[in-house]
Amino acid sequence: MNTPIYMDAHATTPMDPQVVEAMLPYFTQSFGNAASRTHSFGHDAEAAVDSARTTLAELIGARPKEIIFTSGATESDNLAIKGAAEFHREMGNHIITSVIEHHAVLDSCKALERAGFEVTYLPVDKYGAVNPSSVEKAITPQTVLVSIMLANNEIGTISDLVAIGKITRQAGVLFHSDATQGVGRVGVNVDEMNLDLMSFSAHKMYGPKGVGALYVRSRRPRVRIRPQMDGGGHERGMRSGTLNVPSIVGFAKAAEICMSEMDQDEARIDTLKERLYQGITSKIDSVFLNGHPTNRLAGNLNLSFAYVEGESLLMGLKDVAISSGSACTSSTLEPSYVLKAIGVEEDLAHTSLRFGLHRFTTEEEVDFVIADVIDQVSRLREMSPLYEMAQAGVDMSTIEWPEDH
Ligand SMILES: *Cc1c(COP(=O)(O)O)cnc(C)c1O
Repeated sequence: MNTPIYMDAHATTPMDPQVVEAMLPYFTQSFGNAASRTHSFGHDAEAAVDSARTTLAELIGARPKEIIFTSGATESDNLAIKGAAEFHREMGNHIITSVIEHHAVLDSCKALERAGFEVTYLPVDKYGAVNPSSVEKAITPQTVLVSIMLANNEIGTISDLVAIGKITRQAGVLFHSDATQGVGRVGVNVDEMNLDLMSFSAHKMYGPKGVGALYVRSRRPRVRIRPQMDGGGHERGMRSGTLNVPSIVGFAKAAEICMSEMDQDEARIDTLKERLYQGITSKIDSVFLNGHPTNRLAGNLNLSFAYVEGESLLMGLKDVAISSGSACTSSTLEPSYVLKAIGVEEDLAHTSLRFGLHRFTTEEEVDFVIADVIDQVSRLREMSPLYEMAQAGVDMSTIEWPEDH
């Protein structure tokens, strides 16, 4: 077993070796520009892109021409939200989203606010779920777009997009979802969910980095968006730029593998996740699960450890590649806005760890991680006067701390 052990699959997944294999000929042999019409190099590249489009459409229950290739979910989110809002400017200036969206969505909304749009940021419940009726209540005659993520990248909670999609369709407003964490991991069908726009990315489903897609509904209704990139009019005019053929081929290969293996894969991952959870919590107390107990991504385990210091814990676990509830926004030590939104207290937000299991995670790795977490938490708690007091039955909430604490 090699260390460090990779358990940060929400940040990115390892590439499936079959994906790499599928991509290789498109770097050196079939390296043509998919827009070149005058020779076989172009035709081969175009055929590969067409085939990839068909596969990706199949993965999400769409039609091939509804797949617009982008550089990743960040670009797809920007294109969907700014593109739809700008195109429909005359119809209204109101957008609805949630407080726990990815920054690609939140910051696109912030940019629109600076341009005169109004944005409602819906709260979530203690599990991180958006209540569909809160979407319904927030819709006004000015609303043009609702954007709610499929699965949260920190706590793994899965939203009820079917229920939300019924509401948006009924109200006649566009529905976008950042489905990056869910596509390839859970079943997604754009018609069942009444989605008009949906973002997803190859590198979260065992494909290459730097390629993603935006689903844009072509009928009932035909969705129009304003392109964010001017140029040669590729991708039905919605996204100019020479297509990244090798990555698109890899994206499709990744989708194909997900279609055939998702059910077994996710069941296995779920079992490993349960093993990890039980293994940790059977040996150490005062551990809290963040996110929904069952309605969550199979590979996501987000735990807060009371009476330890978050940074010390992360540093102690140097053989495990994971992320924490405060290091997520990187350089700052601000606790995660997602944990804050579900009501996790600051102390516990700082000591949260996000485990992201994936297709290549093994039982041996899980057992190693369990032992390592138990060791590190126990070691830190041995040095913690707070833990000692808690063990002795002191009620922490009654302690009066000195001014400066
Ligand atoms: C990773 C991620 C993104 C960004 O995707 P990129 O392809 O890296 O730009 C957006 N939204 C969610 C929910 C993600 O997990």
